[in-house]
Amino acid sequence: MGLMKAQEGIVVKKFGGTSVGSIERIEAVAERILQDTKAGQLPVVVASAMSGETNRLVRLAADIDPFYRGLAYDMLLASGEQVSIALLAMALEKRGLKAIPLLAYQVGIQTDSIFSKARIQEVKGQRLLELVKQGIIPVVAGFQGVTIDDRITTLGRGGSDTTAVALAASLGCEACEIYTDVPAVYTADPRLVPKAQEIPVLSFEEMMEMASLGSKVLHFRCVELAVKFGVKIHVRSTFERREGTWVVPEGERMEAPVVSSVTHDAQTVVFKIFPVPFGPGFLAQLFERLAEKGVVVDIITQSQNEEGQRLAFSVNEEDRPLAEQVLRQQVEDHSQIVVMDQMAKISTVGVGMRNHPGVASRFFKVLHDLEVPVHLVTTSEIKISAVIDKSNLEVAARALHQAFSLEES
Ligand code: ADP
Ligand code: ASP
Ligand code: MG
Repeated sequence: MGLMKAQEGIVVKKFGGTSVGSIERIEAVAERILQDTKAGQLPVVVASAMSGETNRLVRLAADIDPFYRGLAYDMLLASGEQVSIALLAMALEKRGLKAIPLLAYQVGIQTDSIFSKARIQEVKGQRLLELVKQGIIPVVAGFQGVTIDDRITTLGRGGSDTTAVALAASLGCEACEIYTDVPAVYTADPRLVPKAQEIPVLSFEEMMEMASLGSKVLHFRCVELAVKFGVKIHVRSTFERREGTWVVPEGERMEAPVVSSVTHDAQTVVFKIFPVPFGPGFLAQLFERLAEKGVVVDIITQSQNEEGQRLAFSVNEEDRPLAEQVLRQQVEDHSQIVVMDQMAKISTVGVGMRNHPGVASRFFKVLHDLEVPVHLVTTSEIKISAVIDKSNLEVAARALHQAFSLEES
């Protein structure tokens, strides 16, 4: 990553799509950055595309070819950030600050060449540092990178968070600020569970589970990088001037509740296939083909009886067309493929679950009492997840939130 010694005063600040969603909001962000510079900070800014823009680009691509992934797709998706950073740099200059908008290739955010899900390999923080030393505010495009052979890549949806943490790590910063449209990380998505509570301090591990289970608030890779480089994350509001949630190493979180959040992912698709050829050979080949296409498979279950072997697995809605295409090529004609969209994954997460038995029983009792059918299940030391119908998501999330006493935490 090219880590360097921290330069006093540098703060990486990432502003999400809603935060730069209109000219008024871009002006407000610029105003806030101006105040921070007056208070002595040296900002390095990262911005996402204006809200709705990346979705619009995804739809345009799908209109031409829903199966297309690769160079042109990433080139298209990366364009949204070019607009927002240019506008934000203009708004800063209007306020008498010096600012330069920078695309990933200009910064040197180098990634591998897995299009749509590229991983950052190196950031050349030196260039940013030189700008900061000259009193210039770099305004960097989030979500994008460049391969060693100069091809533009993107980091996966929500990936601007990862750009920000990668820059903070390469600049040797202790922390990174993620400004968003909610004032903190909550015990559940406040849009789904109105009684959700703010969590002032959260461990890296819990945040990593939440992010990997689909909580939109932070991109999974950003938490992964934060852990690797020991960069604390401060999730806070763009619109209010107050502290939000600090995501920190586990030892720094005082007492951990058994369950710290109810997390959901409303973009789940389940495939059920029956019968599939006996034995692991078919499974190995199928999952290899899916991986080659860049499909991330989430939960997998397999069962066997005298009639044959059954397989079920889930993917993100984004990967559905590709997954379906691969399945139809791999599965024999007499096998039945059922595609279940309108699914959601609901999970409870908490490091305290390690030492407390009974969480699973309570989790399933809540779903049973609500008569919510469960399609797939997976667990780890610190989480339990179930795939349920999307139509049951709200009621299940609220009931689990209450059952695990998160309302009064
Ligand atoms: P940005 O564009 O700033 O990156 P995102 O939409 O990616 O914002 O992430 C913020 C959203 O994450 C919030 O508006 C909220 O609806 C959602 N969210 C999901 N789970 C949580 C949670 N546990 N705490 C806070 N927000 C959450
Ligand atoms: N603009 C990208 C997206 O919508 C990246 C981000 O918002 O973080 O996924
Ligand atoms: Mg986001």
